[in-house]
Amino acid sequence: MRIGVIVAVIVFLIALGLFGFLVLLDRNADIGSLELPERKPEIVESGLVVSSEEVPQGGTFAFAVVGVNDNVKAFFENKEVPLTRTDKGFVGVLGISLNSPPREADLRATAENDLVFEKKILVVEKDYGTSRLTLPPSATQAGRTTGTLVSGIVGDDNKKLTDAMRQSEAVAYFTESFVIPTLEWVNVGRFGVLRQSGGTAIRHLGIDLDAKVGDPIFATNRGKVTLSEYLTNYGHSIVIDHGLGIWSIYIHLETRSVEKGEIVERGQQIGEAGSTGLYSFEPHLHFSIRHHASSLDPEAFIEAMNKVL
Ligand SMILES: [Zn+2]
Repeated sequence: MRIGVIVAVIVFLIALGLFGFLVLLDRNADIGSLELPERKPEIVESGLVVSSEEVPQGGTFAFAVVGVNDNVKAFFENKEVPLTRTDKGFVGVLGISLNSPPREADLRATAENDLVFEKKILVVEKDYGTSRLTLPPSATQAGRTTGTLVSGIVGDDNKKLTDAMRQSEAVAYFTESFVIPTLEWVNVGRFGVLRQSGGTAIRHLGIDLDAKVGDPIFATNRGKVTLSEYLTNYGHSIVIDHGLGIWSIYIHLETRSVEKGEIVERGQQIGEAGSTGLYSFEPHLHFSIRHHASSLDPEAFIEAMNKVL
C-alpha cells in the first residue's frame, strides 16, 4: 500500500517534469519564431580597432577598419573621415582640439557586404595647467619683455606657420608608425600649459624635447616639407605635411638639411638641434603636431597613431 503511494507520487512528479519541459520547449519555439526579422546590416564591433574609447581635449583619436577589402567609409558625428590604406586596414585620424566640448560622439564605418561598425567615443575635459612665463636675465638686459615676445610670435612667425599649413595632401604620405624626432624622448616642456606673465599669456602648443646643439633631428614620418626657413622668434624651422590634415613642426634648430617641396622619409635626418630664434633660451627641440587647425599633444598623438598603424 505504502509502496503504491510512493510509486504514484514518483510517476506524478515525472509527468509534471516532462510537462514542464514540454512547456519550456514550446516557449522557446515561440521566442524563435518571433525573431525572424527582415534582413538588417550586420553590426560587428570586432572589425573596428580604436586607439582608445576616451579622448581628452588636445588628444588624438585614431582608428582602423580591419578585415575588409573595399568600399570603406567612416563617419565621426556624421562627418566623413578620410581614410588611408595600410597593411593592417583602413586608418582614420581625428584631432580633438583643446576647446572641443566634452561629449559622447559616434563613430560609424561602413564596408562591403552591408557591414556596419559602430563605437561610442567619449571626449573628456583636460586641464593642462598654467606656469609663469619668465625671460632669462640676458633677454631682459637686451630690452625684451614677455609682451614684445608674444606679440612677435603671434604677429609674425605664427602667420608664416599657418600659411605653410593651409593645404594638406588628401592622401596620406605615410603607411607606417610614427617615430620620435630626437635621439631620446626627454620632455622638458609640457604640451598645453598656459604660460602667463602679467597681462600676457601664451599657450605651449607643442612639447619641448631635450637635445644638445648638433644632435640629429628626424622626420617623425614620411611627408612633404611645406616650410624650411629662419623665423625671427622660432629660429630655423621646418614644417612637414603628412597628408590627411596632419603636420609636424620642428623649431629652434641649429641647421636645416631639407628644402620646401622635398619628400622626406620616416626617420630621415632633417636638421640639427639648437637654440635659434628670440624665443629659445637653451638648446632643445620644440616639436608640434597639428591636425587641421587643432594643435595636439605630440606624445598622445604618436601613441594613438601607433596603436592602429
Ligand atoms: Zn616649446
